Amino acid sequence: MGLAVPAPDLEQSSAEEVLGYMVERFHPRLYVAASFQKETSVIMDMITQITPEARFFTLDTGVLFPETYETWREAEEFFDVEIEVFQGMSLARQAAVHGDELWKRDPDACCAIRKVSPLSDALSGVDGWISGVRRDQSATRRSTAKVEWDSKNELWKANPLADWSDKDVWDYIVARGLPYNELHDRGYASIGCTHCTKPGAGREGRWAAASKDECGIHSVA
Ligand code: SF4
Repeated sequence: MGLAVPAPDLEQSSAEEVLGYMVERFHPRLYVAASFQKETSVIMDMITQITPEARFFTLDTGVLFPETYETWREAEEFFDVEIEVFQGMSLARQAAVHGDELWKRDPDACCAIRKVSPLSDALSGVDGWISGVRRDQSATRRSTAKVEWDSKNELWKANPLADWSDKDVWDYIVARGLPYNELHDRGYASIGCTHCTKPGAGREGRWAAASKDECGIHSVA
């Protein structure tokens, strides 16, 4: 299904219904992005109940927190899945080509190498993908649709938790007894790379020292 098919109106649908729609339309050419933040726990739980064959991928920037790598290991064990890994240029090569501390001098360029480019590689082999973006995470995410055409990567994208609150996410995790990234218990509402993430509410701890809100992987225009 390409852009010729109009976006389905699933705005009133539940997260499970959105996931069910994506599985029915696209699986096995469907990828679920795993960032190992709390939303990943919810989506992994829901979609593995719809199909245990769901396919997951993560972008390993090489500078994730030890707690995130631990959550990754736990998630694979808990949900009995294998998460495929996509990586950008090696850190050593990045330093050789772009110099040290690119993340500090030019975080947009660093994110392009370590996140946007490997995302594009990951999505080149599927027709749909799923993310944990929620509208209340930041002003830039407020207009997130539950299902939208990702014109940057030319495939359909679903954000089944778009209308969920923080509390909705935690209530689900507690009710289902799911593993989650323990950095959330230490004040990190949003978790990315070690270099660019501090504790904070919403996404205020991300690139706190720079005028940057997003890494670019959720921009669909
Ligand atoms: S979040 Fe920071 S370290 Fe991670 S890819 Fe972006 S700029 Fe680089």
